[in-house]
Parts: sequence; C-alpha cells; structure tokens
Amino acid sequence: MAKVLIIGAGGVGSVVAHKCAMNSDVFTSIMLASRTKAKCDRIAAEIREMHGVTIQTDQVDADQVPDMVALINSFNPVLVINVALPYQDLPIMDACLEAGVHYMDTANYEPKDVAKFEYSWQWAYKERFEKAGLMALLGCGFDPGATQVFTAYAAKHHFDRMDYLDIVDCNAGDHGKAFATNFNPEINIREITQPGRYWENGEWIEIPAMSIHKPIEYPGIGERESYVLYHEELESLVKNFPTLKRARFWMTFGQAYLTHLEVLQNVGMTRIDPVKFNGMDIVPLEFLKAVLPAPDSLGENYTGQTSIGCQIKGVKDDEERTYFIWNNCDHAKTYREVRGQAVSYTTGVPAMIGAMLMLTGVWMKPGVWNCEELDPDPFIEQMNKQGLPVNEQVNATLPHEYPA
Ligand code: NDP
Repeated sequence: MAKVLIIGAGGVGSVVAHKCAMNSDVFTSIMLASRTKAKCDRIAAEIREMHGVTIQTDQVDADQVPDMVALINSFNPVLVINVALPYQDLPIMDACLEAGVHYMDTANYEPKDVAKFEYSWQWAYKERFEKAGLMALLGCGFDPGATQVFTAYAAKHHFDRMDYLDIVDCNAGDHGKAFATNFNPEINIREITQPGRYWENGEWIEIPAMSIHKPIEYPGIGERESYVLYHEELESLVKNFPTLKRARFWMTFGQAYLTHLEVLQNVGMTRIDPVKFNGMDIVPLEFLKAVLPAPDSLGENYTGQTSIGCQIKGVKDDEERTYFIWNNCDHAKTYREVRGQAVSYTTGVPAMIGAMLMLTGVWMKPGVWNCEELDPDPFIEQMNKQGLPVNEQVNATLPHEYPA
C-alpha cells in the first residue's frame, strides 16, 4: 500500500525497520538509509532472516538537503520516518517539502552547538506543510509520543478538566555495563545535564539539574528514585491542555549512573564546545560517545523492564479523580522479537504506529502536529496489538503532593 523511507540505522531505526517489515500489508516497500550503509545492510539481513522480508538500503548524509531530496526522488516514498538525530530534523523537513512527501520524527530539533530543545523551530513549518498539503508528525516515540497520546486519551475518556500531570519514566533494566546510555549518548547526556524545568501555575519553574527527586513506585518493579527533568513533550502538552496547573516529568537513575555522570561532568567530558587536541578540534561529548557502548549493542544480555506512564489528577462529573495509564516493556522479550532493547523498542514501535496511522489516512491531515492533537483511540488500539500493552487504573492513590 505505501512506500516508506526510514533515515537512521541506530537502536531506534532498527526497531522501526523490523516493525514496518512485520506490518508489510501497510508498509509494502521499505528503504533504510543512514550515514553508514553497512549498519543498514546488517539490519536488512536480520530482517530477511527473521521476518522473510527484503528491504532496500542506501547511504545518505541527512544534513545535506540536496542529497536527501535526490534520495527521496529516486525511491519515491510517501513518507520519511526520521529516526536519525534531532540535528537532522530541519534539513529532513526541508527535503520533504521540496520533494513533496510527508514527514515524521521522534525527537524535536536541537541545534548542535547549544544544548537546547524546543518546538519553535519545527512549529514554524506549519504553514508551509499546510500549503503543500503535507503532514509532519513530531515526536512520535514513547516520551515524547505515547505519553502525549496517553494524556489525550485521559482527557477524552476520563476527565472534564485535568489539573495535574506527572509523567513517570522508569528503566529498571540491567545491561551489565558499568556505564552506558539507552539511546544516543550525546543526545541523552545533553538532555539530563541541562537545568530541570516544570510547569506550574502558568509559568516554567527552572531548577538545578537533578535537584528534585523522590522514590516513586512503578508497577511490577517497585520503588525507584526518580528525578524531575525537563522533557520536550511538556511544552506542547501545557499548550494543548491549558487547564493543567502543574506538569512534570520524572525519570529514574541508579546511583552508579549518576556517579559516573558526575565524574564525566567534573572532568569536562560532557562539554559540547570544541577543544584543541593534537592540533585538531574535538568536542569532548562527541568523543565520549565514540568510546561508550552503542545503544544498539546493549540488547543481547539486557534483563528487566521499563515502565512509562502518565499520572493525572483532575475532575470528572464534579468529582475529583486520579488516573494512571502506563506500559511495561521487557528488555529480553523485545530482544527476542526484533533484536533491540526495550528503550529502542518503546521508541520504535510508536514511530511505526504513527507512520501506519498516517499512511492509512486515520491520522493524516496537512500541517505540523504533536501526538496529543490527534485521536488517541486508534493509537492505543495499535499499541495493544503491536507489543506495547496499555494498563489503566482509576482513583488509585498517586505518589504526588497536590496543593489544596
Ligand atoms: P543512535 O545513535 O543509535 O542512531 C542514530 C542513527 O542516525 C545512526 O545510525 C547514525 O549514523 C544516524 N545519523 C546520524 N547523523 C546522521 C546524518 N547526518 N545522516 C544520516 N544518518 C545519520 O540513536 P538512537 O537510535 O538511540 O536514537 C534515534 C533517535 O530517537 C534520536 O533522535 C533520539 O533522540 C530519539 N529517541 C526518542 C525517544 C522517544 O521516546 N521519543 C527515546 C529514545 C530516542 P551512524 O551509524 O553513522 O552514526
């Protein structure tokens, strides 16, 4: 039914390619292209062996708009799924506009030289996509992505008014390495070393990185120390659900991870400005990425689960209500299914679902959209079918303080 071009052959790109191949009634022809073609070829061979589907591969530097346009024109897809890095969002959006194809990604644009992410750059494309009759779907992974669908689902089915939102993200997995990040190390470390931020009473409250934390109980896992971070979906959620008085994002970190990170920061290894070394300019964080384990190499011996969900308090039929919606995902199980660990899986499966809903017309509308702006029901239905079962609990006691 539709041709799709996937850009990026890392942990997430691999899961997207596998899951598209496993839904070959929708994705009838698939190309995986990335900076290093050998990685695409390795994934293609795995897909042929595991699912009996042949996909095409190619090499591209997605920062180069003319090269992207040439690739799109030669393969002629309906949609480009961008699962390279956030730096590539704008060049790939430009290429999609020029070639006349739809676009989606899983992380919002970041300039390479400033550790800052916000939607303004991509929202600025709204009119151009609308005029071209094309759709761009932003941030369709798990968080961002499924967490916004969860919030939209809560608003549609469980609340007349939502007051408090806490997104809770736990990875209780063990990959056996002393220190590794579960998705691209450069992007991950930039995200967690910047100041934290949350929304309260109509404004952003900035806090020193990792300064607010407490134990939170995760279903099937138990209590884990969780830290308030700034996370990109908060920006669109407070805009699209303006009744929210407070919106926060919590993520778990183990003590060993934090100790490693502190040392790396103290010795300057997380810097993103170039330093001279042997007459060359090198960026310490990029060098660190080169020596850390790649996220797609963590899967084989990974055990344990992730648990990500939304905890909401608000009002329904004049009564106060709490609501918790979440998914648990098992690292070993996802490895068996698609040779990827659960963090790549929980990102790649929602990306495939978003693409599927666009291509089948269910979510298709011109413009630039965040996931909570589209009907959550078909997305939740697909999560339940595609390996990310959704759980719900109404009026449980949630682990947060709510001002009187
Ligand atoms: P990886 O680092 O494993 O993979 C990134 C891939 O992009 C690599 O194959 C890399 O090529 C390729 N790439 C980088 N630059 C270019 C370029 N200029 N042109 C073409 N290809 C390029 O990252 P992940 O797979 O872990 O993450 C992918 C994306 O998913 C990131 O944007 C990340 O932020 C996002 N993400 C979103 C989450 C969510 O829930 N929404 C959660 C986790 C991740 P090479 O192999 O040559 O380096």
